[in-house]
Amino acid sequence: MNILLLGSGGREHAFAWKIASSPKCGKLFVAPGNAGTAAIAENVAIAVTDFEKLAQFCTDQSVDMMVVGPEEPLVKGIVDYFKNNPAVAHIPVVGPSQKGAQLEGSKDFSKQFMQRHGIPTAASKTFTKDSLEEGIAYLQSQGLPIVLKADGLAAGKGVLICQTYEEATESLKEMLVDAKFGDASSKVVIEQFLQGIELSVFVATDATSYRILPEAKDYKRIGEQDTGLNTGGMGAVSPVPFADGSFLKKVAERVVIPTIKGLEMENIPYTGFLFIGLMNMNGDPYVIEYNVRMGDPETEAVLPRIKSDFVDLLFSMGTLHLDEYQLEIHSHTATTVVMVAGGYPGAYEKGHEITGLTSIADPAKAIAFHAGTTTGTKGEVLTNGGRVIAVTGLGESMEEALNHAYEAVNHINWKDQYHRRDIGQDLKIYH
Ligand code: ATP
Repeated sequence: MNILLLGSGGREHAFAWKIASSPKCGKLFVAPGNAGTAAIAENVAIAVTDFEKLAQFCTDQSVDMMVVGPEEPLVKGIVDYFKNNPAVAHIPVVGPSQKGAQLEGSKDFSKQFMQRHGIPTAASKTFTKDSLEEGIAYLQSQGLPIVLKADGLAAGKGVLICQTYEEATESLKEMLVDAKFGDASSKVVIEQFLQGIELSVFVATDATSYRILPEAKDYKRIGEQDTGLNTGGMGAVSPVPFADGSFLKKVAERVVIPTIKGLEMENIPYTGFLFIGLMNMNGDPYVIEYNVRMGDPETEAVLPRIKSDFVDLLFSMGTLHLDEYQLEIHSHTATTVVMVAGGYPGAYEKGHEITGLTSIADPAKAIAFHAGTTTGTKGEVLTNGGRVIAVTGLGESMEEALNHAYEAVNHINWKDQYHRRDIGQDLKIYH
């Protein structure tokens, strides 16, 4: 089966690696890909939002399935574009429709969806420029801290946790009146602050059937002990030791099933992955957000734990036969450490040569997934982004997985490279 995968991050290298390991995979193309995907697939220089060129490529190369990694083409409607284009309408696409992608593309839409289907989440109300005064009155009637969220996509920066009413009022004005996040903050969701410990659950679905994939915890801040600025993600661990069987049962019953039923009831075509960001509050799950694709770096920890054939999983989703798929999970632990460019998430340099990538001897212990990398003129691997390499260590215990990850990390280097050394340390109390 010829497969086209869209994206260029660590998530997509992990997808490509998993897809390529399946005997069902014929030719694998990645658009646009990175230096890691180039080593196991054919990179194609087409942007993920150039739907016309992607469709032409699928026809020219007899692509049998397309898998969409990032949210941007989904929110822009790539799935609907393919469905409505007779030349490519027959190709199964793993990714939700534009309507389904609103679960991530509009926080107001996702909050309303949760409210309609009784899915536990923080109390909230949405305001626009015209209802600014009501918004100020509402936030001042709530407890502190209070959370302000730009409705649209804001590259992970559109969420503010305000400690005082002055700060919240000022920020609300900046978002609604001064368009702090452009069009994304033309609506703002004001939300109750949830105190608890966060984790993410991943679901594969065709909007009728679903399979719950391994859960993961990620590390968002740049500094150790979760300090400093927010990033795209500095590490991940799967499984999550505090997500025991009874908690995950509640997640399935209170969140996953009502979400899938809600999509079906509202006739929202949704073939793809659903990332559910959760707060565990005293053993009860509350939804913080939906994302309509897999997380990065969580994918790099979750996919190595899938034992059953991954191409079969994708194809059964794409052809709406997920009910026939038997999901099997490895019991081992996967821990991912993200290595970033010095200065990230602020300004950073690109183009530094990465050394030590070939030093990983045993892929059963550690795998280096490329994120922001490119191939230089002499075939060398160069840094090409903020998050550069995501190293996943595997082991029978979290301790062993972390040892394998950090052993590999210690062999990989480039000028000004940085990584957190405390991934997973906070979870040791649960063992
Ligand atoms: P990302 O792109 O990083 O996934 P986002 O911009 O889509 O984030 P959210 O995930 O909704 O926004 O919020 C970002 C982070 O803010 C959450 O991961 C969580 O740590 C915190 N947060 C969001 N909502 C709440 C809440 N109601 N209570 C407590 N913390 C919250």
